[in-house]
Amino acid sequence: MSKGTINVSVDNIFPLIKKFLYSDHEIFLRELISNATDATLKMKHLANIGEAEGVEYGNPMIEVKLDKKKKELRIIDQGIGMTKDEVEKYINEIAFSGAEEFIEKYKDKNGKDAGIIGHFGLGFYSAFMVAAKVEIITKSYKDEPAVHWSCDGSPEFTLEEADKKERGTEIILHIAEDSTEFLKENRITELLVKYNKFMPIPIKFGTRTETLPKPEDAKEDDKAPTEEVDNIINNPNPAWTKQPTELEDKDYNSFYRELYPMQFEEPLFHIHLNVDYPFNLTGILYFPKMTNDMSVQKDKIQLYQNQVFVTDNVEGIVPEFLTMLRGVIDSPDIPLNVSRSYLQADGAVKKIASYITRKVADKLKSLFNSDREGFEKKWNDIKIVIEYGMLTEDKFFDKSKDFALYPTVDNTYFTFPELKEKIKDTQTDKDGNIVILYASNKEEQHSYIEAAKEKGYEVLLLDSPIVTHLLQKVEGSEEKISFVRVDSDHVENLIKKDDEQISKLSDEEKESLKTFLDGVIPKEKFSVQLEALDSNANPFIITEPEFMRRMKDMQKTGGGGMFGMGGFPEMYNLIVNTNHELISEILNTKTEKKKERLVNQALDLARLSKNLLKGEELTAFIKRSYEMIK
Ligand code: ADP
Repeated sequence: MSKGTINVSVDNIFPLIKKFLYSDHEIFLRELISNATDATLKMKHLANIGEAEGVEYGNPMIEVKLDKKKKELRIIDQGIGMTKDEVEKYINEIAFSGAEEFIEKYKDKNGKDAGIIGHFGLGFYSAFMVAAKVEIITKSYKDEPAVHWSCDGSPEFTLEEADKKERGTEIILHIAEDSTEFLKENRITELLVKYNKFMPIPIKFGTRTETLPKPEDAKEDDKAPTEEVDNIINNPNPAWTKQPTELEDKDYNSFYRELYPMQFEEPLFHIHLNVDYPFNLTGILYFPKMTNDMSVQKDKIQLYQNQVFVTDNVEGIVPEFLTMLRGVIDSPDIPLNVSRSYLQADGAVKKIASYITRKVADKLKSLFNSDREGFEKKWNDIKIVIEYGMLTEDKFFDKSKDFALYPTVDNTYFTFPELKEKIKDTQTDKDGNIVILYASNKEEQHSYIEAAKEKGYEVLLLDSPIVTHLLQKVEGSEEKISFVRVDSDHVENLIKKDDEQISKLSDEEKESLKTFLDGVIPKEKFSVQLEALDSNANPFIITEPEFMRRMKDMQKTGGGGMFGMGGFPEMYNLIVNTNHELISEILNTKTEKKKERLVNQALDLARLSKNLLKGEELTAFIKRSYEMIK
């Protein structure tokens, strides 16, 4: 037996390891299983290239064993193992110098950051985050005796020969007093499922009972026979590691279920990512059914590195609008031991982001082209991602012209070029601008929508929370296009044409009407405008100018805060149609009181049709209405 001192200058490295990786203790298991996996895959490689003569690769697995009584956790593999020299080199020298370097470099960092940085740097020594003593018993595939290494957390270790016969490595962790959570079966299962669910070598953790089919001659109440089988916790061949040609839709859907066992809805479609130049990346992204609440759907994409789970926060790697999707991304090329801000500036990561964006755009385009009807049906469930992408990624915006849809209130779906073609004759105003009308709520804006349809206009239904921002962007990218919400003005004024209506009222009559209305209608709420409209149009119409409303909308969803927080007055236009019969009647009514009543009633009706009549005012209106029909 030999004794030695681990080659480090920092005396008590282990307390430091504990401290720096404090937030992330649980990763020790992932690190050790990753080492076991690497050792097994190396063995496979050597066997494949004929380097390891007389060595049987077989069907190796990794076993995790828990002994609560002895307070031990073991990780056993059948990989290449290590010779005595290799233990000295890889465990005593190299790994420790790595740890030392790590500590030197990140001394000033606080625990959490260092935790992220440590993800893939410390490997084997992370065992000391949870163990008071660690042993390695290992036998190399080479014809050399097995060795036993043991270290209790001080820089001293022992190294001696051992009598292990089978090839491979066994790591024994003597779990420390402050880490007894890792002696619980449930906790270990949880970790294995979180980090190792898709690792490439089968991982066994205990056994489970499987029910076998009853033999043919079994009687009715005979119990079905059972069998103890290895409890394999991982799927070593997850769908994303396969070629798209090997997979059918049902395979993609069942993999989705494997990723999200609690998710009962089927995904709408998937995108298989597979690239090996200029970077390596595989993965499958799914479009789930989206709701308008963007924040709740984030953080569902899982990031792997060679089938080892790293994180489900892909911010900085995937463009923000795509963080609403689900699925997995696996890349050895994403630098994980750096901070997020560094990640965002990394050239390779930028390329990855633009590759993913392009793949998503291409997939949407091909879905649109191959099955337009199906695509239209899905539109409402996916539009939030697409619209958000159009708003935030210029390249995606350009590509979206091929598949972004603009649905009308009657469920006709136009692409932008189709829409322009359809409305250019009817909806071009006197200055040559094409005016696109839209509604944000079919119920609330019903009367305005009907009025516009009556004139032969198309009305879009655009109801995403970010739509106002998007419209600004589309207007900015197209010549002579403007979007106007149907209730922002009277229909005659939405798209201004040359033909002026003639007013039934004389100038004096208008003057006297205006004076009277100004006395009755609250100035701080409505700005009164007399207009000579079609005599069939409503007498009083309340509108909210497009500009004002957009500002309000944008303030609500962030950005455009020109007026400071909540600084918008509740101000509307009241358009009075001087050609309507009721207006003449108001003018001709002799008693002031009656006149006032008519004006208030008409005003309330206008407010009612814009959903503005509530509370006390609504009660007063109902009372007045009953009196009027008495
Ligand atoms: P890394 O895995 O990043 O190289 P580690 O500290 O985890 O760093 O491991 C150091 C070295 O020890 C590995 O590169 C490998 O050569 C050796 N090693 C660790 N675990 C095993 C194992 N289970 N079987 C064989 N060799 C191992």
